[in-house]
Amino acid sequence: MTKKLIVGNWKMNGSLADNAALLGAVREGCAGGAAADLAFCASAPYLAQLQSLLCGSRIDWGAQDCSAHAAGAYTGEVSAAMLRDFGCRYVIVGHSERRQYHHESDDLVALKAQRALAAGVTPIVCVGETLADREAGRTEFVVKRQLSAVIHAVGHCSSEIVVAYEPVWAIGTGRTASPEQAQAVHVVLRAQLRAASVNTSHNRILYGGSMNAGNAAELLAQPDIDGGLIGGASLKAADFLQILASCPVEAARG
Ligand code: PEP
Repeated sequence: MTKKLIVGNWKMNGSLADNAALLGAVREGCAGGAAADLAFCASAPYLAQLQSLLCGSRIDWGAQDCSAHAAGAYTGEVSAAMLRDFGCRYVIVGHSERRQYHHESDDLVALKAQRALAAGVTPIVCVGETLADREAGRTEFVVKRQLSAVIHAVGHCSSEIVVAYEPVWAIGTGRTASPEQAQAVHVVLRAQLRAASVNTSHNRILYGGSMNAGNAAELLAQPDIDGGLIGGASLKAADFLQILASCPVEAARG
């Protein structure tokens, strides 16, 4: 039985006032229960605010990145242990915006995932192909290469990671993978995890890329899509709550 997981990625957005209003509305909206587990990943300066507003609620929180180092002379970096100090359950690693703008390699992302796990924070490992990759028929090769670096680094702890399949061409573009396209890649990723992990029953594979109130139900109905990583639509409480409401009731997977 897999309960869906819906994670909001605020990216570099938010303010103390906006965050409080958004979280208040989401808390109110799911006060009677939520069909899925949920979390928000915020920029580091707001983690203390999330901790204070969400502690004791059904909503988890996390960060959008962490250092590949444990501690030391790495000015500007935030370690996974620091995230744990602020109650983070999750940290996104390898988001395509970091791979693209900060030139993060598969190996660096893998180290970050390793640091997160060592600190007791669950890494949400993002993988995804560019449009050029897809058009060249390289989707499977690319996502497997990205995930394999993490599996290799974290070994038997692979069963503890969350994976987010985020086709780069669908992020922030309004262009979503079709449910069939997403499901097909999720099947590949799940098989890869199965082949590598001791126990994959904990692994959740999220879809991310322009998921919104209008397309969430169809995507989340796919048997291997265990939830969503939501960018733009996580900044509006009504949209986020609608996505949450689109989650089907838990279903058994064979
Ligand atoms: C993301 O940033 O992880 C994402 C999926 O963004 P969006 O939903 O805006 O495409």
